[in-house]
Amino acid sequence: MTKLPVRGDRSFDRLPASGLCMRPNPVAVVNLPVPPVALAVDDARYEPLSWISRAVWVFDIDRRCVHWANAAALNLWNAESLIELRARDLGADMSASVAQRMLQFQQDFEAGPARFDEQWTLYPKGQPQTLRVAFSGHRLVDGRMAMLCEALDERNGDPASVRSVDALLHTPVMITLYDWQARVLYRNPAARAKHPERIDQGHRFVRDEDFRTLLSQLLARGQARLVAAVHTREGERWHEVHASRCRDAASGRQAFLVSEVDVTELKRTEARAHHLALHDTLTGLPNRHYVLREFGQTLQALGRQRVSAALIFIDLDHFKTVNDSMGHAFGDQLLLQMADRLRTVVREGDLVARLGGDEFLVLAVLHDDDGELAVLTQRILTSLSAPVTLLTTEVCVTSSIGTSLFPRDGNDIQTLMRHADMAMYGAKDQGRNAVAAFTPAMKAATEHRMSLENELRHALERGEFELFYQPKLTIDNRLVGAEALLRWRHPERGLVSPAVFVPVCEEIGLIGDIGAWVIESAARQQVRWRDQGHRLQVALNLSPRQLAGTQLLDTVRAVVASTGCDPRSLELEVTESMLLGNDLHTRRLLTQLSEMGFSIAIDDFGTGYSNLAYLQRYPIRTLKIDRSFVQAIGQSSTLTEVIVMMCKALNLHMVAEGVERADQLAWLAERGVHEYQGFLFSPPLPVAEFDQLLSVTDARRVA
Ligand code: C2E
Ligand code: MG
Ligand code: MG
Repeated sequence: MTKLPVRGDRSFDRLPASGLCMRPNPVAVVNLPVPPVALAVDDARYEPLSWISRAVWVFDIDRRCVHWANAAALNLWNAESLIELRARDLGADMSASVAQRMLQFQQDFEAGPARFDEQWTLYPKGQPQTLRVAFSGHRLVDGRMAMLCEALDERNGDPASVRSVDALLHTPVMITLYDWQARVLYRNPAARAKHPERIDQGHRFVRDEDFRTLLSQLLARGQARLVAAVHTREGERWHEVHASRCRDAASGRQAFLVSEVDVTELKRTEARAHHLALHDTLTGLPNRHYVLREFGQTLQALGRQRVSAALIFIDLDHFKTVNDSMGHAFGDQLLLQMADRLRTVVREGDLVARLGGDEFLVLAVLHDDDGELAVLTQRILTSLSAPVTLLTTEVCVTSSIGTSLFPRDGNDIQTLMRHADMAMYGAKDQGRNAVAAFTPAMKAATEHRMSLENELRHALERGEFELFYQPKLTIDNRLVGAEALLRWRHPERGLVSPAVFVPVCEEIGLIGDIGAWVIESAARQQVRWRDQGHRLQVALNLSPRQLAGTQLLDTVRAVVASTGCDPRSLELEVTESMLLGNDLHTRRLLTQLSEMGFSIAIDDFGTGYSNLAYLQRYPIRTLKIDRSFVQAIGQSSTLTEVIVMMCKALNLHMVAEGVERADQLAWLAERGVHEYQGFLFSPPLPVAEFDQLLSVTDARRVA
C-alpha cells in the first residue's frame, strides 16, 4: 500500500514515500456493493482463503500491518512466514497522502458495503510490485474496521504511466471527472478528502452564479477558470477551479475534468492586505483611499436615485498641543475615543472615516433639508467636546466642522472633500468649536490664497521684494533712524502690505529666505547711509519662525561679514508672543545677538500679554509702544501712562509707534518718551524718497 517497507530492508531509505500507484486510467475506480465479509480473527477462520491461488491478505489499517496473509500473499510480500510478515511495520515511512487514503477506505467501509479496485505499487523488501488490488471492508474480532486485499493481476506497467498515476494519487490538487450531468465519475484522493459526499459539482459552489459561470465558460471556450467559494468537508473554502472539456476514457462520453486548489489562505491574506490598505490601523475606520474609492461610488449611486447627501469634515482643535504635551500614546487613545464617539453618534447608514491625523469625515445621506444636517453636526460637536478621561487625566477637545452638500457643492468626492475642508477652515476662523457650511466665497478666498502662495514662491527670485523705510525721530524731531518695512511690488496688484503676505510666508515656510534677504538689504542700506555720512540706526522685524529656527545666528554673522555693517547700528524687533514660555533657545539666541552688539526691541508692546517678568529675563534695550496706545492718548490714556512708567522703572529705551497728531507727540514728550515714528512726520518711504528726506533734514551726521 504505502511503500510497505520491511524493517532492516536497506533499500527502504532510498525509496520515496510514494509507495502506492494507481492505474493511469482513473475512471477504473468502481464502487461495487458487496456482502460484508464475515471472517473470524484467528487464522483458522481464514482457512477457506488459504488455498486461493491469488494473493489475499488482511491489512490492519489502524496498526498499519498485515494481519493475515495466504501463501500466495506471503510469496508476493517475499515473507518467510506469516509471523515475519505481521511483524513488519508498514506505516514506518507511509506518506501523508497514503495514510489519508487509508483513512478514506476505512470511513467508506464503515459507511456501508464498498469494494474498490485500484492499481497500487507495493514494495516487498523494497522492490516495487505494481498490481491491481481489490479492497473491501473486513471487521476484526475486536470490532475495528480492517480491509481485505485481493491481488487481481500483476502489472509492471511502463514507468511513465506508473509515475503519472502515482502523482495523481499524491498531489494535493483535487482532481475530479464529471459527466455532463455534473455527476462524479472519478475523484482522486485529494478530491475525495475535501469534497462533501454525494454532492454534485453544481451544488458544491456557495454561489449558484459561480457554477453558471463555469458552465458557460466551458461551453463557450472548452475551458473555465474561476476562484469561488465552495462547500467542503472543512466548511466553506476558497478554491481556484480549472475545468476543461474532455471525454471519459472509460465510456468515451463527453465529460469535464476539474482541478481545484485550495486558495483560502491566499484569499485571507489578500483580504487582510486589502483591509489594511483601505483602513486606518489605529481606529479601524476606513481611510482616505477607502473614501476616495467607496464614498465616490456611494455618491454615484445616490446621484442615480436623486438623493442628496452631506460630507462632514471634522478636525479636532489644538490636537497637536495634546500630542506635544501629553505624548503620542495619549494622543492615540484620544483619537480612539473620538472615533468611537463618531461611530455611535452618526445614524445608521452614515459612513465614518479617518482621513489621517486628527481629521475625520462623515458621509451622511440627507432625507429632508438643512434641518437634518444641522442636528447631526450639532450632535457630533457636542459628543466630541465631552471630557475624555484617560487614566487619571481629563481633557476636553473641541472640534471644527465643515460641511459640503451633494450635489449642490460638488458632484464628485474630491470636490466635495475640498469644499468641506474649506468650510472647516471657515469654522476655525470663527474661533473653532463651530460648524460652517461651504460657500462659493470660501472657494474664491482659497483660490486667491493659493495663487498668492504660488506667486510668493517666485517673488524673491524675481526681485519683487523691496524695503521701505519709516523715519524714526527723537521726541524733539531729530532724524535718528529708520524701520525697514517689507513691501511686495506685485506686477499686477502693485504694492502689497506685509500684513497680507508675511503671515502666508510664515505658514508656507518662505519667511526664512525672505527674512534673510531683509536682514542683508537693511544692513547694506545702513552701510550705504553711513558711507554717505548719515548716522542712522536701522530697525528690522524678525518673524517668530526666524527666531525659533537655527539659521538666524549664521545669517546675521554672514551679513555682518559681507556688508561690513556695525551690529550696533542695527535693531532687531521681536514681538511679545515670541518671548512667552521662557524658551531657553530664544533666551540664548537673543543673548548672543545682544553680545554681538545688536540691539533688541520689543515691537507692538501692549498688544500681547504685556508680561513684565520676561522683560527682565531677556536682553531688551527698546520697547516700542503699540500704535493703539498712542491713538488712545487724549481719550483713555491710563494704560499708555502705565506702560511709560513701567519702561522708566525698567530703564528701557521708549519708542512710540503710529504717532499721527501733534498732541500725541506733545503728550509723549511730556512723559519723557525717547523716540517716535508715525505719519505725523512720515509714512514708510522708498529708499529714493528717504534719501531726499535726508538731504533736507537735519539728520545726525557721522562723526
Ligand atoms: P510693525 O513692525 O509694527 O510696523 C509698523 C506698521 O505701522 C507699518 O505697517 C507701518 O506702515 C505702520 N505705521 C507706521 N506709522 C503709522 C501711523 O502713523 N499710522 C498708521 N495707521 N500706521 C502706521 P506695515 O509696513 O504695513 O507693516 C505691518 C507689519 O508687518 C509690521 O508691523 C511688521 O510686524 C510686519 N513686517 C513688516 N516688514 C516686515 C519684515 O521685513 N519682516 C517681518 N517678519 N515682518 C514685517
Ligand atoms: Mg516693527
Ligand atoms: Mg509695531
